[in-house]
Amino acid sequence: MKPILRLIFLVTLSVVLGGCYTVPETGRSSFILPVDDVGQGAAAFAEIKAKEKISRDPAANERVRRIGLRIAQVVGQDLPGAAWEFVVFDAPDTVNAFALPGGKVGVYTGLLNLASSDDEVAIVIGHEIAHVTARHGAERMSQGILVAAGGLVLDHQTQGRKNHDLLLAGYGLLSTGGMLAFSRSHESEADYIGIRYAARAGFDPRAAVTFWQKMEKQSSGGRLPVFLSTHPSHDRRIGDLQRWMPEVLPIYQAAKRQ
Ligand SMILES: [Zn+2]
Repeated sequence: MKPILRLIFLVTLSVVLGGCYTVPETGRSSFILPVDDVGQGAAAFAEIKAKEKISRDPAANERVRRIGLRIAQVVGQDLPGAAWEFVVFDAPDTVNAFALPGGKVGVYTGLLNLASSDDEVAIVIGHEIAHVTARHGAERMSQGILVAAGGLVLDHQTQGRKNHDLLLAGYGLLSTGGMLAFSRSHESEADYIGIRYAARAGFDPRAAVTFWQKMEKQSSGGRLPVFLSTHPSHDRRIGDLQRWMPEVLPIYQAAKRQ
């Protein structure tokens, strides 16, 4: 089989094997190829743990574990087969946290120092875990594979044509724009799902607003936290969060009553 035909065959096969995933809390359908995101998540987490300095501070570890486990409990079947692990990384200048498929969560001490309450820490952990339960990584990987395959096919089919370079450049531009829009919509979706998780676990969702305002102030002070490079556009984000408050506050109040 010619390489290009083999590629088209493989892409078609993976599209057939891929399936729709229903994102928890929002019900959005996403298309995901059969990628091993859980295996990759575990490998990436092991690598990060080997590379970064792990905090031995019992108070910080206890705090993250206690908050994380409460959120993990409400996440429940949104992440079947999760092997939860919460690790604090000792890096006071790093205002960051992340979660990886399989339930691997990392929080940097810089973030713990900036968050003035457990509610704020819960908001960030909830947001990161929401990326995982929504399988945003796998969705992006799937889209990346399809875009790359599409580029190869286009490259092959337009070879020797006058407008070959122009077509490829246009394709590159369009796909980059598409990926950016995609990642912004993932951010917004993780915000929404994350505050719902936090609220259900009994953490005040209003902390999302105060936390992002604080982050905004930090970034306008010139020092851009790592967190912001992948989590952009505060004005819209804060506006959205405020708009969702009437919906999530009753969830929080109900959780508090229990
Ligand atoms: Zn995010």
